[in-house]
Amino acid sequence: MERLWQAMDVTTVERPSVSSVVMPFVVGSLAVAAGGVLRLALDPALGDRAVFLFFVPAVLIATVTGGWLPASATTLLSLAIGYAEFGRYGHLASNQVDAAVFGVLGIAMAVGGERLLRSQARSRGLARHVIERQAQLQSILDTVPNPMVVIDEDGLIESFSPAAERLFNWSKDEVIGENVSILMPSPEHEGHDSFLQRYAATGERRVIGVPRVVVGRRKNGTHFSAELSIGETRLGSRRFFTGFFQDLTEREAAAERVQTLQTELLQISRLSAMGEMASALAHELNQPLSAISNYLRGGERLLRNDNPHSPALAAMDKAAAQALRAGEIIRRLRDFVVRGESDRNMESLRQLTEEASALGLIGAKELGVTTRFKADTGVDEVFVDKVQIQQVVINLMRNAIDAMRESERRELRVTLSVGPENMAMLSVADSGPGISPRIADQLFQPFVTTKGAQGMGVGLSISRTIIETHGGRIWAEPNPEGGAIFRFTVPMGNPKGGH
Ligand code: ADP
Repeated sequence: MERLWQAMDVTTVERPSVSSVVMPFVVGSLAVAAGGVLRLALDPALGDRAVFLFFVPAVLIATVTGGWLPASATTLLSLAIGYAEFGRYGHLASNQVDAAVFGVLGIAMAVGGERLLRSQARSRGLARHVIERQAQLQSILDTVPNPMVVIDEDGLIESFSPAAERLFNWSKDEVIGENVSILMPSPEHEGHDSFLQRYAATGERRVIGVPRVVVGRRKNGTHFSAELSIGETRLGSRRFFTGFFQDLTEREAAAERVQTLQTELLQISRLSAMGEMASALAHELNQPLSAISNYLRGGERLLRNDNPHSPALAAMDKAAAQALRAGEIIRRLRDFVVRGESDRNMESLRQLTEEASALGLIGAKELGVTTRFKADTGVDEVFVDKVQIQQVVINLMRNAIDAMRESERRELRVTLSVGPENMAMLSVADSGPGISPRIADQLFQPFVTTKGAQGMGVGLSISRTIIETHGGRIWAEPNPEGGAIFRFTVPMGNPKGGH
């Protein structure tokens, strides 16, 4: 930055110092004295000729060093000394003409010299200005975060910014003067020259001003995608093209991560829904199955009293055993679906929550929901199945957003803190109407919903199964500021350290 300010300080006017003003007068006077002494020395040889000729260099020196003022002063001094010393020749008409010519010449030299000095100073200033502007431009280019490449109309690289060096892994010195096609993979690599020629011939704009996604080629031959915007500049008869790149690798990787996460979540939500269906079925079927087995046992007893050797007895016994087995199979199916897929690792609860909110908060902004995240220090690492816990977080967020649909104030607060039993606790607080007292005590049971046909009523029950299989707890409480708070805990720290 400092360079930039220095470079921009182009309007500073240099004040001449006192010594630089006085010096030309001194130099001029000394030169006059020297001229006078020389002329005196040569007086026997010259006689009455060339009285003022010896002062011409003094006027010249004064002009060149100080401009018109010292030059005029030196001219006057020369005339005075000339007359004082050589007054004896003054009566000669030729010398009077000489003096007049010298005076006019002195003034002419003063004026011409001054002009020369000024134009010299101007061109020096201009050159400095150009250099400073160049430095200014260069420092701006150096700090532009986007990689930038400037090429001429033949496609040869004129400028290559530091960000471009980082993106392409080529150094500036290696690529300046090279054809820009070295930055492109095939088929652009081969076709770029004819592309430029066509543009030069037809003037038909295809890429200029229209950002587009291109594939770039690094020095080591690997490819990457980037967004490229091209601008055109004309300097005199020459034409330049400036390309700004935006590296899309990061963006694409992030999109890919979201995509993977989404697929994983979809998968787990299917599995969880299946598990929940199985558990609900087990619950629903348990009663009729135990009734069947009870009736069978009762029937068996009655039959035994009447006919203890009836062959039907063994059949009824087997039927009762099968009824119990049916219940067992369903229970095992549920256990398999919920627990069998668990894949626990050390995860950052904060990061996991942030990722989940990318999906959980879809549409929240449009609804006018403001979301605040807060994480206490000292609580982050947890030992969990990331996708399952994200499923819970998403569920709680979606429920909170749903609950606030009709509310005036729509505030969602997600807090990460230390909960009971020194576990990591995540709280999702909303400003909705709070939990309906009608369902408050069955909130976490399957198929309990207040959303009619819109709700399945399995979200919270899946969440509870997930949290409990992790050794944590999930509960709801009223929000003192209005609304509901759902909280869950999961074990902190490393798996071996015991929790
Ligand atoms: P669903 O959302 O399909 O109804 P859930 O099991 O996720 O199933 O939720 C069950 C019920 O719990 C909801 O229908 C709703 O009545 C209640 N509930 C859940 N979250 C909230 C909340 N943040 N505020 C108020 N009620 C809630």
